[in-house]
Amino acid sequence: MANKTIKTIRVDVDKCNGCRACEVICSAFHAEPKYSSNNPARSRIRVIREPFSDIYVPVYAGEYTPAECAGREKYTMDGKEYEECAFCRASCPSRPEFKEPDSGLPLKCDMCEGEEQPLCVKWCLADALIYEEREEEVEEAVEQEELEIGLETLANKYGLQKITDALSRMNEKE
Ligand code: SF4
Ligand code: SF4
Repeated sequence: MANKTIKTIRVDVDKCNGCRACEVICSAFHAEPKYSSNNPARSRIRVIREPFSDIYVPVYAGEYTPAECAGREKYTMDGKEYEECAFCRASCPSRPEFKEPDSGLPLKCDMCEGEEQPLCVKWCLADALIYEEREEEVEEAVEQEELEIGLETLANKYGLQKITDALSRMNEKE
C-alpha cells in the first residue's frame, strides 16, 4: 500500500459575495509569463452571479470531454431558472466555458501546482473557499503491473512451461 494526497476545495456558497477575486488571481497566475495579465475568461474558476437574488456560485473547471452529454440538467434557484448545464465543471463542445479564449484549448483547475495552497483560496477574503488535504491509502497497482510485464517477457523468451517449472522448483526449495 502507498499513500496518496487528496486535495479538496470546499465551497461555502452562503459566504461567497461574488467579488470575483478568485477569477482574477487564477487567470493572472496562469498567464504567460505569470502575472503578466489577468482575464477572467482564462480563469479555471468562474462565479455564477445573480446579484438581485444574492446568489453567487463558484464553479471549478473539471475534466475535458470531447462529447456532449445526451441528457442535460437545469436548475431553479430562488425562482430563477438557470441555463442548461450552468453548474457543470466540464470543458465540453456544447458551451464556451472553461476554454482558453484564443486557442480554444480546454482549461482545468490544477490546484495551483507548486504553490503552498490554491491562490483562489488565499485571495477569497470571504472564506467561501476552504482548502483541505487528506492522505488515503491506495494499492500499488504500478508495481503489480511491472511484475506482470516482467513475467510476460520471461514467458515470451523461455516459454511458459519453463517459467512454471522454475517457479514450482523454487517453491519446493522453500
Ligand atoms: S473570491 Fe471568494 S467571495 Fe469572491 S467570488 Fe470568489 S469565491 Fe466568491
Ligand atoms: S486552485 Fe488555482 S488553478 Fe484551481 S481555480 Fe483556484 S486559482 Fe485556479
